[in-house]
Amino acid sequence: MALPQFKRILLKLSGEVLMGEQQFGIDTAYVDRLAAEVVAVKQTGLEICLVIGGGNIFRGMAGAASGMDRAQADYMGMLATVMNALAMQSSLEKLGVATRVQSAVQMDTVCEPVIRRRAERHLAKGRIVIFAAGVGSPYFTTDSGAALRAAEMKCDALFKGTSVDGVYDADPKHDSNAKRYDVVDYDTVLAENLKVMDASAVALCRDNSIPIIVFSIREEGNLARVLEGNGVQTVVCDTTDQRTG
Ligand code: UDP
Repeated sequence: MALPQFKRILLKLSGEVLMGEQQFGIDTAYVDRLAAEVVAVKQTGLEICLVIGGGNIFRGMAGAASGMDRAQADYMGMLATVMNALAMQSSLEKLGVATRVQSAVQMDTVCEPVIRRRAERHLAKGRIVIFAAGVGSPYFTTDSGAALRAAEMKCDALFKGTSVDGVYDADPKHDSNAKRYDVVDYDTVLAENLKVMDASAVALCRDNSIPIIVFSIREEGNLARVLEGNGVQTVVCDTTDQRTG
């Protein structure tokens, strides 16, 4: 399906893609490759807000499963997202693109706090704004953080770059008959519990009419292809909305 022209997008990258082929942590060369893709699409005039997960370093659920207090573990997860944001900032700035990191957990000596109007100003000056620490509260994820920032920054769409090329009706890793949706509406995603993003993130996008475009960022050049309408992706939207359906 052809996507409309977007002026401003929110790009959410799962933490796990920053691992590259590693089992854990940050593969700097791979982050450089991701940064180059982001810069390539920025050069087309697109305004970009970034949200990066933390699952390559720490997930609150995993901490809780091993006996840690859940909220405590979630704060550790949020700190992991700040580390990833700084790694991405470094890779983007090596390519000559000005960026700012804004964290929902304040850490003044490291980055800015989230201030929407300041973020607007950064975008107007051609900077990429990387939002870290999700929504800043435990029991949430960076998917919800991405949906929240996409709404408050009035992004035209939320692009979720992950390891799979879209949304399937079953887990393609375990079911060879799994089919990928080209387009699916928010309510189907929620009712059938399709693995796209957390329900709270999907609901926030639905309530604010923000299309979610799920695609594989592991395939080189795919972000640009998806934006040009030549990629493989699933669009989650209100299918009665002619802008995207
Ligand atoms: N997290 C949180 N609140 C937020 C965002 C993140 O508590 O608003 C914590 C949570 O523990 C989560 C971890 O940070 O597991 C890493 O984020 P996420 O799992 O969303 O990363 P991703 O799966 O995208 O790599």
